[in-house]
Amino acid sequence: MIIAGDWLLAPGARLVPNGAVLINGARIVAVGTRAEMLRQRPREIVRDHPGCIVTPGFVNAHTHLCLTALSGLIPPAPFPEWLSRVARATRSMDADDLEVAVSAGAVECLRCGVTVVGDVAYGPESPAAAGDIGLGGAFFWEALGLDGADLSAHLADHDYPDDPGTQCVGRTRCGLSPHAPYTAGPGLITGVAELARRHGVPFAMHLAESPAEAELLSSGTGPLVGLAEKLARGFRPPGHDAVHYVARLGALDGMIAVHCVHLEDGSPQLLARSAAGVVLCPRSNRFLHNGDADVEALRLAGARLAIGTDSLASNADLDVFNEARALRELDPALTDRDLILMLTEHGAHVLGLGERFGTLAEGAYADVVVSEVGVTDDPLGALIADGGRNAVRSVISAGIWRVVDGEIAFRTAGLDTKIARAADKAARAIDRAVS
Ligand SMILES: [Zn+2]
Repeated sequence: MIIAGDWLLAPGARLVPNGAVLINGARIVAVGTRAEMLRQRPREIVRDHPGCIVTPGFVNAHTHLCLTALSGLIPPAPFPEWLSRVARATRSMDADDLEVAVSAGAVECLRCGVTVVGDVAYGPESPAAAGDIGLGGAFFWEALGLDGADLSAHLADHDYPDDPGTQCVGRTRCGLSPHAPYTAGPGLITGVAELARRHGVPFAMHLAESPAEAELLSSGTGPLVGLAEKLARGFRPPGHDAVHYVARLGALDGMIAVHCVHLEDGSPQLLARSAAGVVLCPRSNRFLHNGDADVEALRLAGARLAIGTDSLASNADLDVFNEARALRELDPALTDRDLILMLTEHGAHVLGLGERFGTLAEGAYADVVVSEVGVTDDPLGALIADGGRNAVRSVISAGIWRVVDGEIAFRTAGLDTKIARAADKAARAIDRAVS
């Protein structure tokens, strides 16, 4: 099949007027102009999209799809307060609830043109359910509150595939994540980093997210002290920010660093030199009163940047274009091209998925999004200004049509009922905790 539009986004964010992508099954066969594709395959079915741009599926590089049932349940609040409510709500959810939440979150991703995620998972439900709906990406098994020595047993309990051969199944790749410096002690952080390197899987960590975390690390005081004493085994305040802390532990090399809001001088450069990349989540940071990342400093230091919405427990939606627009407010020098690369190629590279996702290149997965931009000479400008859920016309992932004419192309009625039930249960758990 040939999918054509007024414009096509080729690798390197190169724009092809009257562009088209030729797909066969789950893979991309060729990319070029509509005329070139038709010359190669004169009898191929062509789907034309006037007034639209054809792009790869977009990348949401940090989210927690299993928290989708908490959408709208927890009001904006300072981070430590919010965190304890989320913990209570998630404790009320069983494996079925988590699976339903992941499925509902995955449907919402597709509506926004996202086919690739960097998702924090508590077990195998996340990649299985997200993969069934049509997403691909990296799914990071989260570890917290453990000694490093207990990591392997914990992962086995949560069905983490210990055979490196099964850590990448189809379009989903397993990864690892020590949650954060105040819940994962130094032994656990280094244990996860070593295991990830040994298995060759991506690993991610929430880093330098809140003022409370910064205070804990710099002076050992503040509202996260109790949590750190309980969960971060062996933690001693390092007197530095989180980036220097994990670098001194030897864990920053290859890490996907999420948030990076509260940084000392030199940390942007350290991230650029050592980390796989930095995932920025500006709207979640604002929701949790965490402040704004210094995006300009990270960009100028040369850090590889990606964009994530974080979960629906700390954001209004999973629309990565709303996130990109919020990011540009923090760094107006970010160009349309910079932002679109973060949402495609660069996002996929930060997650370690660059060959197969985030690009309309021969051999990559047939993840194709058609977005309305109108008749324009500046399709990237139009896409960044108005792209996302309202502009998405069609979404194909692994060669299968998931969204057609702006509507999900498969039945979701059963899912709507189940997610409403899971949300009720979580709301009752939050109410019980508050009252
Ligand atoms: Zn997160």
